[in-house]
Amino acid sequence: MLVNGWVGQPFEVGSGVRQGCPLSPLLYAFAIDPFVRRLDGGAVSGVLVGATGDPPLRVVAYADDVSVFISGPEEAQEVVSVMDQYAEASGSKVNQDKCEVLWMGREGESFSLPDAFPVPQPNIKVLGINFGSADYSKQNWESKLSDAEVKVRCWKGWRLSLRERVDLIKTFLLPVFLYVSFVCLLPESLYTRIYSCFFQMLWGNRLNLVKRDVTYSSRQEGGLGMVNPVVFFSLMFLKHNFGNMLAERPPAWVGLFRIWFGPFLHSWESGGPVRSLRVKHGKLPAYVALCLKLLRRWHVTAEEVRSLPRRLLGERIVASAFHAPLALRDCPGHVMREGLRLINLERIPLKLRDQAWLAFHGRLYVRGNLKYRPADDRGCPRSECGGEVETMDHFLLQCPFNVEVYKQVGGALGVPFLHRMSYAEWVYGAFESRMGFNLDTLFLVSLVVRYYTWMARCQVSIRQKVLPVQVVASDILGEVGKIRGLEKDRLRRRAWMEAWRNIKPVAAVC
Ligand SMILES: [Zn+2]
Repeated sequence: MLVNGWVGQPFEVGSGVRQGCPLSPLLYAFAIDPFVRRLDGGAVSGVLVGATGDPPLRVVAYADDVSVFISGPEEAQEVVSVMDQYAEASGSKVNQDKCEVLWMGREGESFSLPDAFPVPQPNIKVLGINFGSADYSKQNWESKLSDAEVKVRCWKGWRLSLRERVDLIKTFLLPVFLYVSFVCLLPESLYTRIYSCFFQMLWGNRLNLVKRDVTYSSRQEGGLGMVNPVVFFSLMFLKHNFGNMLAERPPAWVGLFRIWFGPFLHSWESGGPVRSLRVKHGKLPAYVALCLKLLRRWHVTAEEVRSLPRRLLGERIVASAFHAPLALRDCPGHVMREGLRLINLERIPLKLRDQAWLAFHGRLYVRGNLKYRPADDRGCPRSECGGEVETMDHFLLQCPFNVEVYKQVGGALGVPFLHRMSYAEWVYGAFESRMGFNLDTLFLVSLVVRYYTWMARCQVSIRQKVLPVQVVASDILGEVGKIRGLEKDRLRRRAWMEAWRNIKPVAAVC
């Protein structure tokens, strides 16, 4: 054994289970079973919860984490003697350092405990969750939030696309809170903090360029398929607890839940409204009022809790309570639909997608869009523009450097109108009058042009480095040539010819 760096003498292990072996928990369940049965089978009479007739709560166990509920001094003594007997029979011992005692109920300390019991605490931890008499939800959520904020601080600087960030959030950020969300309802006082944690992860900074409510929509509808953490976690709790309460054969613990909620949900259970809460604050646990508020605010019906899968219920709530219409400039319905199709084209390489999405929403990171900058510091970074405000129009249509690039690229590719394209053509791909070209391909080319002109613009604003027009143009032609070449390998010849018709081939320049 290795203790503080010192290696001890080897010894035989006579009993125990192997770490990491899938059989271990099952073997352990066999070993602890007599102990649990002894307590549950009459050694303690337990605590009555729920309706009369429900069995009392005596003991709950998850592997070696055993909680016993007692209501008198004789039972306390009985627990000690069952523990001693079990220790003698099995050779296992209770680790006193890991034992905790909590007084429950309003009376507080109402009898004295045997010496073998540890000193009662105001809070105890059971299976990783802190329980106590005060509002323990907040403590549990705060501790998980701190863990998550550490992760976000380390992830947010990564160079990832918005899509990848949403995936990262769903795969690694949600699970941090998953377990606690079943047991504790996310408190309202932490909504701001949890939103900011999730959205800092999404944007990589504190700036919300596009409205949060827009990001929750699917990509096809112009969003990012982002999760709404408040809906997600609150629903985890509601669905789990109310779902069990409404089940045909509800588990025993639901009785406790029913005591609190029964009076308010009587008509709700049969399709009616949730009764409003008119009970003095403090008589009910903190989460009760919030549960009722959420059920009412989001119009959640008992039928939905009973039969709608959680994901669908979540989508329904987000669509009705967190929906923002797309705020798009100069964009009639048919243009918007076509634009949404174009920005979601599978042909678009990953690195061009974020810009396509931001531009579609009119939210490229041009200085005119950055509200935190002082009004007199929103000028185009290029010196030839003399401080003219850098709006999207300026960047896309007017900035003389970009117009020069468009002319060169347009000439080389046989797209002579490139430098005369409108705002709607650049951001929505509204190329209605551009005959002779495949419009998807034209949009793809415009994305490549915008990507490289944007990178060149950032070289000026961040590094004060001005690239020559020819260099930027040849980067663009190289990238277009590369995409065209890759598609040639992927597509059937005829489809490829159709896609690239009338666009002049340009050899990739390195
Ligand atoms: Zn400019």
